Amino acid sequence: MRILLYRGDGVIEPWARDFAEALPHAETVVWREGMSLASQAPCDYAVVWAPTPALLDQLAHVRAIFLMGAGVDALLKFGDALPPVPIVRLGDAGMAEQMAEYVAYATLRYFRRFDDYEQQARQGMWNPLETRHRKADFTVGVLGLGKLGLPVLRTLRQLGFPVRGWSRSARDLPGVECFAGMESLDDFLSGTRVLVCMLPLTPDTTNLLDRARLSLLPAGAYLINVARGALVAEPDLLALIRAGHIAGATLDVFRNEPLPAPHPFWNEPRITITPHISALTMREEAVRQIAAKIERLERGEAIDDIVDRARGY
Ligand code: NDP
Repeated sequence: MRILLYRGDGVIEPWARDFAEALPHAETVVWREGMSLASQAPCDYAVVWAPTPALLDQLAHVRAIFLMGAGVDALLKFGDALPPVPIVRLGDAGMAEQMAEYVAYATLRYFRRFDDYEQQARQGMWNPLETRHRKADFTVGVLGLGKLGLPVLRTLRQLGFPVRGWSRSARDLPGVECFAGMESLDDFLSGTRVLVCMLPLTPDTTNLLDRARLSLLPAGAYLINVARGALVAEPDLLALIRAGHIAGATLDVFRNEPLPAPHPFWNEPRITITPHISALTMREEAVRQIAAKIERLERGEAIDDIVDRARGY
């Protein structure tokens, strides 16, 4: 069995080493841009991240394509140029816990006014502030109730925040106000103080959070985007923050990454920026998960986490 490995945004050697250990009977083939594998035996599986068009030529004979992460937009954008084989995203593999930590931190930081205390401390100010919110009035709304969105929502509920969630299909979750479908989105937004974006990027969700929808949030709302930058119309968000309608945002993802140096977000003190780190792929756990799935496929067994191409996630 031959497994092609490619990572467009980082080093691949540790992955090759871990796969060689996890699947000792398999041969790992590291592909690099410009390399032709035409003279070699075809690969049976591919494990990839941050794919480029040239990679597609190497995938003609694979039986499944595994992703080194949970987001599938960067691969699905190639549409019909992809071979008609299962595309398998990473399941949780350690990402849900990180996501829950990140979102809980960002929510508490705003709720407890640590953002204000950080500014004050820089000016040498010792100045206790009034509590800004009552927890009961501080509803956190999570867009997307998937592998990562649900654990985020549970963590926030455990912290005592009223929580609501929005998904495509209807849900019934204890202690959670559930909303489903486009027709319920306006209602969902109008009662959300902290909006957490955990949706996949698909044709339906691109630019979902534009000026009109962000304006439905109550005055003083806060945005946390840990999913994909293109879900949010960035100029609209900035305008609403500058106008004072949205109090601020913690953003881990951007339309263009790395966020370009002249981008106005860098100079907006009410926007906290992190470089797409809210849930990092834990390599050893990911390799274990993918290797186990390859072994199941080899035995003719079913596997989880196959992407529905029509839905886009
Ligand atoms: P899942 O595929 O498990 O869940 C997606 C959720 O979004 C589901 O609840 C789904 O609804 C909902 N959804 C999708 N489309 C719509 C729609 N049009 N309307 C309403 N709801 C919709 O995704 P994950 O939870 O695993 O991950 C979410 C995203 O997080 C990833 O796609 C990725 O882009 C991003 N991510 C970011 C990382 C980072 O470091 N910043 C790391 C990992 C992931 P339903 O339940 O009805 O299907």
